[in-house]
Amino acid sequence: MAFDSLTEKLQNIFKNLRSKGRLTEDDVKEALKEIKRALLAADVNFKVVKDFIKNVQERAIGQDVMNGLNPGQMVVKIVNEELVKLMGSETTEIKLQPGSAITVIMMAGLQGAGKTTTTAKLAGKFKLKGKKPLLVACDVYRPAAIKQLQINGEKQGVEVFSMGENHKPANIAKAALLHAQKNKNNIVILDTAGRLHIDEDMMAELQEIKDTVDVHQTILVIDAMTGQDAVNVAKDFNDKIGIDGVIVTKLDGDTRGGAALSVKAVTGKPILYVGMGEKLSDLEQFYPERMASRILGMGDVLTLIEKAEAEIDEEKAKKMSQKLKKAQFDFEDYLDSMSQMKNMGGLGSVMSMLPGLGGMGKMKGLDDDQTAQAEKNLARMEAMIYSMTLEERRNPDLLNPSRKHRIAKGAGVDISEVNRMVKQFNEMKKMMKMMGKGGRRGKFRMPF
Ligand code: GDP
Repeated sequence: MAFDSLTEKLQNIFKNLRSKGRLTEDDVKEALKEIKRALLAADVNFKVVKDFIKNVQERAIGQDVMNGLNPGQMVVKIVNEELVKLMGSETTEIKLQPGSAITVIMMAGLQGAGKTTTTAKLAGKFKLKGKKPLLVACDVYRPAAIKQLQINGEKQGVEVFSMGENHKPANIAKAALLHAQKNKNNIVILDTAGRLHIDEDMMAELQEIKDTVDVHQTILVIDAMTGQDAVNVAKDFNDKIGIDGVIVTKLDGDTRGGAALSVKAVTGKPILYVGMGEKLSDLEQFYPERMASRILGMGDVLTLIEKAEAEIDEEKAKKMSQKLKKAQFDFEDYLDSMSQMKNMGGLGSVMSMLPGLGGMGKMKGLDDDQTAQAEKNLARMEAMIYSMTLEERRNPDLLNPSRKHRIAKGAGVDISEVNRMVKQFNEMKKMMKMMGKGGRRGKFRMPF
């Protein structure tokens, strides 16, 4: 795999850090220097490496260490998150035209990058999704390219449109579109001609295709084996004709992988897929998170980090439950538990996760409208609490009529709503006190 050597180096750096327990600023700086060297050796763009190290350093030094993690693990967590960010954070899908409209995709790239192979691989993906793609042979300079597309198209069970070598690519694209309309194809993929190097003729030809037919997505195919050259090519293509996304091929090869790590940062365009072999099924959707885990090669440490994060939330809930038992909680806690609930996906989803209510799909006794109403009420409550001063939130007894008036005005509600909320709040507090003294001891309940 492309990142084998980088992975090995990073693992050694982190192993060394984790064995230390306590880290000094110098330890972190030394480790970052080594990470920098490892990334450069993997052929990651120099400026990208510089920015990456700067971001990690800013976050790693002077940051509180999370419960349950040692400082070394904390650095792994930060490097992992920054790697994910570097590669674009989210998976990007190829944008298709709505409904039954035809999407025209133009494939571009240098000769040998893997364009023709990838075109056929992509057609296979679309076919699996129930689409009817049409492949178009626009590479009129190499008869072998047309033949190759036809062979691969046949293997994929996808039709190939060709007019031989004696027409202009733009005209072939135009004719292919008419054919697609008649033939009810909903995706047209143009396999264009590459050159050995970037040259003006190639760019002009691609531009002419774009001027002649409506190209909805321009996808650049780059070869991971060519490292930084591939990234420079991507920058050139993007500057000259504009691209929407990149497919990085040959990531299965014994390469350094720097292209995959740099291309998003340099061009601003996401990686859509990666080629992982010569077979037509060897095309994988690109997931920045999975790729970062693969590069770090430390699934176990990453799992531990996830667990520690979950525990922090648990700890907050535990503290809240203790406060509730002692009836010490105030409007600040109220806000806190509301935001925790939102993080969990809102009232509806929290209720459906609760034992006894889950599995039924919906909240027991509440339909969608009622859930929506309850969520609206919560939002109003939140607005009222935000209109309180910190002092008032911490000490609800301060809320006299004039303060309540001010809060109602601030939240844009009637004073009766403020009164109702304070009353409910006090009743709940009383109930908590009673529960704390006996009865259902220890049961934690959401305060609404
Ligand atoms: P084009 O000139 O850009 O159209 O490139 P081709 O599609 O002809 O591919 C050039 C060579 O790269 C062929 O031998 C392909 O089999 C090979 N190739 C393409 N994609 C991949 C990949 O993801 N992994 C590997 N190992 N080889 C690939």
